[in-house]
Amino acid sequence: MMRIGFDVGGSKIAALALDPRGRELARRRREVPRDYAGTLGALVQLADDLVGAHGPAMSIGIALPGMIGAGGELIRVVNLPWIEGRPLRRGIEQAAGLPVTVANDANCFALSEASDGAAAGAPVVFGATLGSGVGGGIVVAGRPLPGANAIAGEWGHNPLPVLRLEDARPERCGCGRAGCVETWLNGAALARDFLRTTGRPAEAPEVARLAARGEVAALAVLGRYRRRLATALAGVVNLLDPDVIVLGGGLSALPGLYAEVPKLWRPLVVAPEPRTRLVPARFGAESGLRGAAWLGRYGAPES
Ligand SMILES: [Zn+2]
Repeated sequence: MMRIGFDVGGSKIAALALDPRGRELARRRREVPRDYAGTLGALVQLADDLVGAHGPAMSIGIALPGMIGAGGELIRVVNLPWIEGRPLRRGIEQAAGLPVTVANDANCFALSEASDGAAAGAPVVFGATLGSGVGGGIVVAGRPLPGANAIAGEWGHNPLPVLRLEDARPERCGCGRAGCVETWLNGAALARDFLRTTGRPAEAPEVARLAARGEVAALAVLGRYRRRLATALAGVVNLLDPDVIVLGGGLSALPGLYAEVPKLWRPLVVAPEPRTRLVPARFGAESGLRGAAWLGRYGAPES
């Protein structure tokens, strides 16, 4: 029997059906309705449609951006305020007649990579996403860890430790604080550093291209990015001591991260010979959606 996963973003719902071995059976995509009843109805209809086409399902998992409680409480949902505080999990469970688990999308990313991705079989996995935001999720012994406040893994909103003068220039973060790791490591941060250095605008892929051609300013921007990433991840290694850190999101494809960042975090990690591996995601942008489907395998405590 299949497992159904949904990844609900600000504008689109992606749906995926996986067989018990993680092979893809089907996928669907549609707009997100802009109200609660419509969103609930769309998810139930997609589930019904997949079951109608591919046979019975065991479970439904839903990945959402924001803060999701251990029982699926929608505490804060980025770009989908109309579902905040609403009983979405129970509503779908009743309408579809299947167990439903809801989790933060970075936790789903980490679960996907820990289940059958780049960190498959590792006891403690930290999944970090580097994109327009900087998120993270923790998976221990195959289970996502939500945390007492539903924020486990939110390293992006720790302040970046200031070890150099060039890091003592805090920017305002979307969370309302200043100097968060996210304000140094998201796509806007890389573009801002390049603009300040050269006076020219460029997004991350262009900075990577210029660095590959040997442009000095682009190499310097990438060097600072890798050093800041290593500084922030050293804190994660000292706190959680993960076996594997998996990077996802658009900026995880920047050149040199996997070879250089572990060398750069070494003097900051308290273990003499840190064995934590830094690896790229196996499933890339698909990982949140796959992780949502895997959620049903582990379930979540009832609310
Ligand atoms: Zn922040």
